[in-house]
Amino acid sequence: MPKCTHTDTVNVTELPASVDGCEDCLALDPPGQWLHLRLCLECGHVGCCDDSPGQHATGHFKGTGHPIIRSIEPGETWSWCYIDEGGVRVELAGEVELPPAPLG
Ligand SMILES: [Zn+2]
Ligand SMILES: [Zn+2]
Ligand SMILES: [Zn+2]
Repeated sequence: MPKCTHTDTVNVTELPASVDGCEDCLALDPPGQWLHLRLCLECGHVGCCDDSPGQHATGHFKGTGHPIIRSIEPGETWSWCYIDEGGVRVELAGEVELPPAPLG
């Protein structure tokens, strides 16, 4: 696996204390439904995973070029670089509180 060279884009060093859900799903009327949530480590955007209908985390990367997301699902600590299409190790402090997923 090529080593990710995009970790200098990571601005988020701490998990948010709580999130409301996928920002882009919640902005829809009626709100979209998501399964799992991913946090953009460049700007803190919260989007839904590729198993969710909206695929807003991937959409956020396509729209902004922000390359690295981290899972904020309970017990998951992996991060992913869209450009390398590979896992990245990023340590974040704190714990995040999630609402129940509409599709969970
Ligand atoms: Zn990378
Ligand atoms: Zn979404
Ligand atoms: Zn972002």
